[in-house]
Parts: sequence; structure tokens; C-alpha cells
Amino acid sequence: MAKKRSVTIQTGGKGEAVRRRLPDGRIIPICECFYNIDASDGCISQVPVELLKEVVDNDGKYAEGNFRRYKAEGVTRRGRCYYCYAYANTGNVRPRVVNGRTRQDFEKYTPKVIRLGKLTELGHPYYYDALSGILDLCEEFGVGIIFPNKMFPFGIQGARETARYARGGNDIAARIAEEREMPSGEKLAEKLRGIHNRSYGVTLMYSTGWDCFEPGAVSQGFTNQWRIEQAIKYFKEGINTSLTLVCDVTGSIDLNEQRGSCIKSALNAREEGLNVRLLPLRPPSREVCVKATGDTREGVRCNEDPFPLLIDSEEGITGRGARYKPRGNQELVPNFFHPDFQKLVDEGIGVCGTVGKEEYCDKCNLTEIRIVFPASQIPAVNYNKKTPWRKKKKKRFPLFDFLE
Ligand code: SF4
Repeated sequence: MAKKRSVTIQTGGKGEAVRRRLPDGRIIPICECFYNIDASDGCISQVPVELLKEVVDNDGKYAEGNFRRYKAEGVTRRGRCYYCYAYANTGNVRPRVVNGRTRQDFEKYTPKVIRLGKLTELGHPYYYDALSGILDLCEEFGVGIIFPNKMFPFGIQGARETARYARGGNDIAARIAEEREMPSGEKLAEKLRGIHNRSYGVTLMYSTGWDCFEPGAVSQGFTNQWRIEQAIKYFKEGINTSLTLVCDVTGSIDLNEQRGSCIKSALNAREEGLNVRLLPLRPPSREVCVKATGDTREGVRCNEDPFPLLIDSEEGITGRGARYKPRGNQELVPNFFHPDFQKLVDEGIGVCGTVGKEEYCDKCNLTEIRIVFPASQIPAVNYNKKTPWRKKKKKRFPLFDFLE
């Protein structure tokens, strides 16, 4: 069996990219996600449920020779979340181990807060051993936690509930959790509360959006509905829990729902007291753009509105121009909030990302702070050899190429 890699802390990323240049020239950090931890190279969300047992039985890879066959058949492409930005994802999902090297990184960086799962999913039961070790270190060193995830169960009960939603009623995620002796949700919540009391805070955030864009995760039973249910349970145990709703903020709530988003279920969960925050969609491909916005990438950035129903003069938003605008190389960012979303923003809902000329940050709900400032004040990141997270990056893998 190959030697396991250590869980280490990676610096940079979004925390480095989202800073603000003040009028007096000082640059201050905005994003709290400067320190990051992953427990594997590739993301287990990509694995279709029928192949999960094979991958786990083979220590995080497909059985010898199978990858080429699956790749030729297109199987390995189909599981990946369509809007995943982790393009350097190699797909080796073997768990890393928390050891002396991990501890050394905690001592070296002494982070105030750390993000769990930057490029991969850390909530999956397959990584429970690593997660448990990370939580212990966070408690010992008083480190706050930002935990965005799609697959963190409310303990063993939550893992068993995946079978209700998994393709064919497959209960492999529950069996993986049992093998790793995952405790009850109540015990996990107690652990998170303990860390919260010793640190800057803990924020548990379930990413929600469209089931149809997350075929691997959904096939394993980690559907959007499952996530909402787990989030409510943690919230009821006193954990600072949110749903992060990826959505087309230039369209109405009704249109988002009609196009397959779980938006209404997510917003309704606020009646249970759950916090909901917005992550404006940046459509990464034609397929996602058409499905989520009803228009092509070219269409959403053209000034002539091809879908008058979307931009209704009675709603007072005609004349704002294109729904999306280009940024950087290939990225599209929304140009404005549809009145449905503007109302939510006016009511204080948290937002992460760029909309129009503004940059929004809600500190991942670690605090009640909500920040809005001109996006033009974000200084360019000088990605050179001295940039720590770039320095360590070895090779850029093609999109979808994984599990060799
Ligand atoms: S809300 Fe703020 S802290 Fe959280 S990821 Fe976005 S920019 Fe970073």
C-alpha cells in the first residue's frame, strides 16, 4: 500500500485574492480563507455511487486497469460537479493522515481561522479519521473553522440517511461511516461547540444549488435536500450553520426554482432559524449557463435582452444592460441583483462575491459583519514564484481528468 500523505496547511487562494486597498493606500485582508486544509488530492464527490466501494476498497483509486476503461466509457467525467473551480484536481481520493507534520503546520502558522476543504470535499465519511484529527488540533490550538461542504452528515444517523436519496438506495456512504466509527450527530455537535468556545468561531456551511449539476455527490445520496436536513439538525444543536445558496441572482426566485435550483427549500429553511447566504453563480460553461440562466454565455453578456420575461420593465430593472459581464479570461460575473435578491440583500442576507461594481463578503457568517465595497478596490494578486500557494503547485491537470 502506498505511503499516505500528510494533511498540511496551504496558504493563499481566496484569502489572498480578496483584499481591499483603502483610500490611504493600505491593503487590508477581507477574506478569512487564507489558511486551508484538504484531506485528499482529488475530490470524492466525483465518484459515482456504483464505483464508490471499488474506490474505497482500493485505497482511494479505481482497481488496476479500470480507470482507462471508465475514462473511455465517459464514466469518470460524469460525476464531477459542473461548477467546480478546482481545475488542478487529480482525482486521487486517497485520504491523507493527520500526523506530526500537521501539528508542525499548526505551530508554524498559528492560524486564527482555517477553511476545511478548499479543493476537495472534507465532510465525506471516508475522511472522518482525518477530520477528527483536524478538529482535535483546532480545539487544542484554539483555531476557528470555516467548513464549507456538501457531504458532512449529522453523525452516523446522517450518513445512514444518504441511502434514502442515493441512486438505487445504495447505502455505501453509511457503511463507510460505520467502518470509521463515526459518532452520533449530537457528539459531533458537542465537539464543534467546544472548538467554538475556544476560538474565533465555527461556521458550518452547506453548499446548495442544483442537483443536476452535482451528479456524483447526488448519486451517493448527498442531495440538496439531504444537506438542508443535516444543516437544520446541526443548527438545532446550537452550531452556527448556514446554507450557501449558489444561484443566478439576475433571475427571479421563481425562475431559479423552475430551472432546478433548490432555492425555495433553502429559503424556507430560514423558518427553522437557519441562516441562508448567497453565492452568485459565475457560469463556467455553456451548459451551466443555459440551464441556470436560460441563456447562453454570449446571450447573458449581450446588451439586447433576449428574454424580456427575465428583465421586466414593471420590476424597474430595464436599462441595466447585460445580465452578466466578463471578468478576467473566461469568467462571467452578474451585473445586478434581480429585485427578488435585492430585497434579500436589503434585509441583510449574506453574500460572497462580485455583483455589478460591488464586492460582497459576509465573513462566511463567522460574525455578523457584512462588507460591501467597490470591486475596483481589490488589488491585483501578483502570482509569481514567491506566492506561497502557487509555488507549491506542480502541474495543471486538464479538467475532468482524474483517478489515474
Ligand atoms: S464570504 Fe468573505 S470570508 Fe467568506 S469566502 Fe467569501 S470573501 Fe472569503
